[in-house]
Amino acid sequence: MAGGGEKVDYVFKVVLIGDSAVGKSQILARFARNEFSLDSKATIGVEFQTRTLVIDHKSVKAQIWDTAGQERQIGALFVRFHCAVHGFAGQDFLVDHRLKLVGFETYSGDATLCYPGAQASGYRAVTSAYYRGALGALLVYDITKRQSFDHIPRWLEELRGHADKNIVIMLVGNKSDLEEERAVSTEDAKEFAEKENLFFLETSALQATNVENAFQTVLTEIFKIHS
Ligand code: GDP
Ligand code: MG
Repeated sequence: MAGGGEKVDYVFKVVLIGDSAVGKSQILARFARNEFSLDSKATIGVEFQTRTLVIDHKSVKAQIWDTAGQERQIGALFVRFHCAVHGFAGQDFLVDHRLKLVGFETYSGDATLCYPGAQASGYRAVTSAYYRGALGALLVYDITKRQSFDHIPRWLEELRGHADKNIVIMLVGNKSDLEEERAVSTEDAKEFAEKENLFFLETSALQATNVENAFQTVLTEIFKIHS
């Protein structure tokens, strides 16, 4: 790259998962650019951002993938893309991260089925592409939304069904700045994390609390396993 000269020893893919509106995109914005926005737009499709950091004198590029909570909807977006490009023939999908570059976002909106089973197969294809090669995951819930915590076992199941066996997982209770609206106790989450062998932290993307710590912990652990 022109003038870059940046030497990268490792690239680690980390995925963000969890219900919609728990703060995944803001956690990423805080980590990648040290930014935060109160009126963040819902993520459409899949995107990733990178940040390079030094771990044990090595340069580690973290490639953090972010998605909308409704992965079904993403599958549908890809289906529409597929149909727009290839017509209605019903070929198999070839979905990988390069799809990120093709501007499928213009196909947002209601997903009509292009052919029977399209949505289901789009969902599966996108889900596996999202998790493929991921070495770490931040499993995010909102401490003020009980439901987002109650859904964590499902997210965990999907993650374990698709990702690398050694994936490093951090359970993240976000929005710790909203203590007066808390609906999930720290103890409950800690207990769940211990039972499931997950790291656990409460974060605030708004106040920049523990965001750095969460990523550092996951990346350092990945580094220990893969270096
Ligand atoms: P996503 O759907 O999981 O990506 O959630 P977003 O990152 O889009 O955030 C959803 C909403 O929660 C937005 O209005 C954010 O500004 C807000 N939000 C995200 N993180 C925090 C946080 O740490 N504290 C507070 N108070 N609000 C947050
Ligand atoms: Mg988002």
